[in-house]
Amino acid sequence: MQILENYPLRDCNTFGFEATARYFCEAHSSADIIEALEFVDAHALTLLVLGEGSNVVLVDDLPGLVLKLANPGVEVVGDAEGSVTVRAGAGQNWHELVCWCLEQGYFGVENLSLIPGSVGAAPVQNIGAYGVELKDVFHSLEAVDRETLEVVTLNRDDCQFAYRESLFKSKARGRYIICHVNLTLSTLPEVNVRYGAISAEIERLGLTLTPQSVSIAVCQLRRSKLPDPAEIGNAGSFFKNPVITDTLCADLRQQFPGLVAYPDIPGRSKLAAGWLIDQCGWKGLREAGVGVHAKQALVLVNYDAGQARDLLALAERIKESVKQRFGVMLEMEPTIYPTP
Ligand code: FAD
Ligand code: NAP
Repeated sequence: MQILENYPLRDCNTFGFEATARYFCEAHSSADIIEALEFVDAHALTLLVLGEGSNVVLVDDLPGLVLKLANPGVEVVGDAEGSVTVRAGAGQNWHELVCWCLEQGYFGVENLSLIPGSVGAAPVQNIGAYGVELKDVFHSLEAVDRETLEVVTLNRDDCQFAYRESLFKSKARGRYIICHVNLTLSTLPEVNVRYGAISAEIERLGLTLTPQSVSIAVCQLRRSKLPDPAEIGNAGSFFKNPVITDTLCADLRQQFPGLVAYPDIPGRSKLAAGWLIDQCGWKGLREAGVGVHAKQALVLVNYDAGQARDLLALAERIKESVKQRFGVMLEMEPTIYPTP
């Protein structure tokens, strides 16, 4: 495995921020991961594991090793009545996996179409969109445990999935390097159209309701609303949707009748963070090369050679204004590197 020095990361993060990794290597197998970890330990380096860089903010140069997972591939490893288990490498592109599953007639991930990034990062924040989360199809994963340098298997309960959260993003951050993910998919063409926007789009496109048409509709909706990172740097939603008590939600709705909120677990409501930010007047703002996307206030963008520090300063101002106006704290979704 080749370890490169002073490696430019601009093309390795979808914000397109300039940063340099002191050391950089690609892992094609769990053996490569272990070799990289031995290098990190031997030189007392920090480690950043990178997929496609679509959920990170690189604020500065990385003084340690950046390890990029480069083991694509997908295979069927089990089948049962009405379902199959599919095993994918961490370096596999997520959307290509979704397309492959649809071609094979394996269903359950179509609502997660066109989410950027790698399979290995999907469990980290339990990726979710249009009423489906990774945990709904997750079977297990294999990862190298940094503490023992051994490959371990973690099942769904071990991963402690929650809303845009998991063991890997919080309690055991940095401990496991995920090398394969196993999903259980249905062979029955059932669809989840709980989010009304999907059925409306399918109708608008004149399609019949199938998992394939759900995927087409989701791709269409996403392309119409979200900036393409190849054109405008971004990491998707910059903040999580805050979950508050139903009582607080009812109070807010009295003050703000247009409040956009959805039921969460019993007793809790989820607020649309994009609406809160929009109400504070941030949508479409552009300053110092960074800004707030004109079609979706939840997406902060790097318009033109902006600096990550300016973007984070803007994010703080947005958070403060939402707190002042609604009394609600926003939490960042992407992860900042180097760790502050
Ligand atoms: P990276 O950004 O490379 O890494 C993210 C985090 O995971 C980092 O902390 C990294 O260290 C860790 N990590 C990566 N790979 C591994 C591994 N193999 N083992 C251990 N840790 C690892 N997210 C959603 O949930 N839903 C959406 O609908 C959605 N839409 C988006 C739309 C756009 C336009 C963009 C730019 C982003 C969107 N995202 C969305 C966020 C992002 O696509 C996901 O979080 C995705 O899973 C990140 O994958 P990645 O490979 O780019 O991860
Ligand atoms: P939207 O449809 O305009 O809806 C705004 C918010 O309301 C969403 O965040 C969504 O919450 C929530 N919502 C809408 N309909 C809902 C329903 N029927 N039940 C429960 N909650 C509902 O959102 P959008 O910005 O166009 O995004 C569409 C989907 O793609 C969302 O699921 C969103 O999470 C996902 N997405 C995620 C990212 C990311 O980076 N994380 C980026 C782009 C899009 P949820 O977010 O909880 O679903």
